[in-house]
Amino acid sequence: MSNQDFHHWGFGTKAIHAGVEPDPSTGAIMTPIFQTSTYVQESPGKHKGYAYARGKNPTRDALQRNIAALENGKHCLCFSSGMGAIDAVIKLLKPGDEVITGNDLYGGSYRMFTKIFEPFGIRFHFIDLSDAQNIKKYINSNTRLIWIETPTNPTMQIVDIEACSKIAKENNLILAVDNTFASPYLQNPLALGADIVMHSVTKYLGGHSDVVMGALVVNRDDLYEKLAFIQNSCGATPGPMDSFLVLRGIKTLHLRMERHCENGKKVAEFLAQHPKVEKVYWPGFPTHPNHSIAKKQMKNFGGMVSFALKSADLETTFKFASSFKVFSLAESLGGVESLINHPATMTHASIPKAEREKVGVTDNLLRLSVGIEDIDDLLADLKQAFDTLS
Ligand SMILES: *Cc1c(COP(=O)(O)O)cnc(C)c1O
Repeated sequence: MSNQDFHHWGFGTKAIHAGVEPDPSTGAIMTPIFQTSTYVQESPGKHKGYAYARGKNPTRDALQRNIAALENGKHCLCFSSGMGAIDAVIKLLKPGDEVITGNDLYGGSYRMFTKIFEPFGIRFHFIDLSDAQNIKKYINSNTRLIWIETPTNPTMQIVDIEACSKIAKENNLILAVDNTFASPYLQNPLALGADIVMHSVTKYLGGHSDVVMGALVVNRDDLYEKLAFIQNSCGATPGPMDSFLVLRGIKTLHLRMERHCENGKKVAEFLAQHPKVEKVYWPGFPTHPNHSIAKKQMKNFGGMVSFALKSADLETTFKFASSFKVFSLAESLGGVESLINHPATMTHASIPKAEREKVGVTDNLLRLSVGIEDIDDLLADLKQAFDTLS
């Protein structure tokens, strides 16, 4: 059996087998952790395709083949973090180039764009992408890249990937999609016309809150060549142990995502009927402004749910967020365990208050990463936390 010939497999089979071969020297079914920095050469330049581990490592290669398969893509490149992956994409640009992106971005992306790349002369337009046609107003002869996130973090806005890709193609722009919140199980942007898919592998792909990593997936050979050059030149590559942990995590991605979606739906419904909740952000509600787009481009609605507490000041919100027994108060998302996060002071603290409040990241907003525990325990935990408010 060749595990390279995976295109006809279903998602779960790909997650377990695609790109992963038994080790030829021992038959080990699990990809070995090639913990080495260099490789012995027979004579200068004569080697088995591996010269130095920043450029290439067999454990990382297996992982890259596997993630490419999950996105139905041709090439994948892994990075030492999601931010490392985003950094590589922006380095495709040069001073004077312009990027059109959303006004509800992951805080770290906003920080990198404004604090690192704007001083290098790249211009970013942070705009409302709930209607993709807005993009057209900001395109000029310097525009090179459209960078979108969907669902967005933390207010779960949905951006129409296909509509963005149509605009990108008409104007010869690159469309990059941060697919972290959906995971490849729920959404495949390349199939909808995107040029680059980015993942914070740290989240659902890794899935066990034990590794930080990023990935880019592309079909275009020209983009792959350029990004691979940047990956090796700038050096934000992941190590073999982390690559192994992610390969292991991905083997259950499909099962985990099913439970994340199931639990996420029940938590969203519980919150929606609770008298102490002002608003729930979850794309599965028919009342969500872009529900029909979410239905069109996602397989299900995911395990991320945000909500605003009714008439709660910062102190009350903090007290509530600290009163959970099963949910842990922590940054990050996508792991097996349920987390609660206060975006305004945690994940999104680097976005100025006025900017974040415009998109709903208010002091009373909380974000849940609903894990795969028993739903009754999660709902009971939420209930007892609300009871501390009275
Ligand atoms: C976490 C996250 C990132 C950054 O990834 P790291 O692995 O933390 O560097 C980027 N985008 C989104 C949507 C994220 O949630």
